[in-house]
Amino acid sequence: DYQVHIIGGGLAGSEAAWQLAQAGIKVRLSEMRGSGDMSPAHQTEGLAELVCSNSFRSDDADKNAVGLLHQEMRRLDSLIMASAEPAKVPAGSALAVDRHVFSGAVTRALADHPNVQIIRERIDTLPTEGMTIVATGPLTAPALATSIGHAAGMEHLAFFDAIAPVIHHDSIDMDQCWMANRWDKIGPGGGEGKDYINCPMDKDQYQAFVQGLLDGEKTEFKEWEANTPYFEGCMPIEVMASRGPETLRHGPMKPMGLDNPRTGRWPYAVVQLRQDNASGTLWNMVGFQTKLKHGAQVELFRTIPGLQNAEFARLGGLHRNTFIQSPKLLDATLRLKSAPHIRFAGQMTGCEGYVESAAIGLIAGRFAAAELLGQALTPPPADTALGALLGHVTGNVATADYQPMNVNFGLFPTLDDVKKKQRKEAYTSRARASFGAWMGEMAIA
Ligand code: FAD
Repeated sequence: DYQVHIIGGGLAGSEAAWQLAQAGIKVRLSEMRGSGDMSPAHQTEGLAELVCSNSFRSDDADKNAVGLLHQEMRRLDSLIMASAEPAKVPAGSALAVDRHVFSGAVTRALADHPNVQIIRERIDTLPTEGMTIVATGPLTAPALATSIGHAAGMEHLAFFDAIAPVIHHDSIDMDQCWMANRWDKIGPGGGEGKDYINCPMDKDQYQAFVQGLLDGEKTEFKEWEANTPYFEGCMPIEVMASRGPETLRHGPMKPMGLDNPRTGRWPYAVVQLRQDNASGTLWNMVGFQTKLKHGAQVELFRTIPGLQNAEFARLGGLHRNTFIQSPKLLDATLRLKSAPHIRFAGQMTGCEGYVESAAIGLIAGRFAAAELLGQALTPPPADTALGALLGHVTGNVATADYQPMNVNFGLFPTLDDVKKKQRKEAYTSRARASFGAWMGEMAIA
């Protein structure tokens, strides 16, 4: 006897269950751990297990986008944020927790809630009817992943992410780069044939860069990831470099057809950046997915002419990660357009991180509750952390290649008229006012 079926008791599913239960709605929460199944990364049967780091990152709501997201979630009665409190460990301005105390608090709160039934079971097919929230995470069990693929279209389901670094536009030195398309070609969308930012390299710079890729410290694939092949199209850049000194010059760093206006000639090699979000505040490094360690990426990529002061909204990566092409498949309240009784939440939607996954679970739960109770709930405004993250998931992308993303100020509408030094505080104070107004309009106490 339940009104909403939630599949997956991780960060997102637990938060969604709490939000629905608190709204008076009966929830069945299906979690496969505890029924004899285990994902390759989880180790316990506790709900909302943190599989790796024990940090929810910065708790600074004035200067940091994830800190702001913490604050917005607290204002919406987040179970994940509340359960972090008694589990806190010292971590400077970050919010870090004892993972067992944290998971224990989440599990107990849901087990004790009269509106929540926790069933230890693995679900292998998407329910054909009844309101459902799928929150099975980056390591969704294979049978269910296949069922999701059938519902969404296999081509819209990824088993690996291939994350190229993303850079804040205002940290790129445009005196060294220029805007152009290869051979000045005008794309199907029209324009002037100047869509890409090109960073030129001479021969010495290129050779040093390739050596840096080969020497840089890499993250190893986990044992359970190692056997999953990655496609040629998303091979790590250092693997390409290892195939020969010229490989990158004939691949993503190809200079052909790119006249540098300062020399009138093609450079020896080029790094291209492509617009990553609609407002043009974020640009990704084309073809630069990598398993270099984050520190090594920052150090090496800042040797690229024009990127010497680059600030990264996201660093590159390549992991096993089940996620769907949400901007194509989901409506503004996270419902699958082709089967609107199903919502998606958590990392499956293409957000990245514990906090972001829980945040999308929170709003998915609230959308489902509002739908059942016949209440209006418009998505939070785009200039709030939750609204900006939801915008990434439900459609605010300029690129065809949708990849997971952490919350960051690059996802927010720009504030160009504010000096760079004051911009972070300007983003967060605008967000707070906007979030408060939205809560008022939605009659959220
Ligand atoms: P999860 O928390 O994974 O929850 C999904 C739940 O669904 C699990 O409990 C799983 O057992 C269950 N499930 C799966 N399939 C089924 C099924 N068919 N039926 C029933 N239940 C099912 N993020 C960070 O912020 N920091 C990190 O350090 C970090 N490290 C990571 C390390 C690894 C190896 C991975 C894979 C991810 C990491 N992430 C990290 C990313 C991510 O934010 C977390 O994975 C986060 O837990 C995602 O939340 P979620 O609720 O979407 O999925």
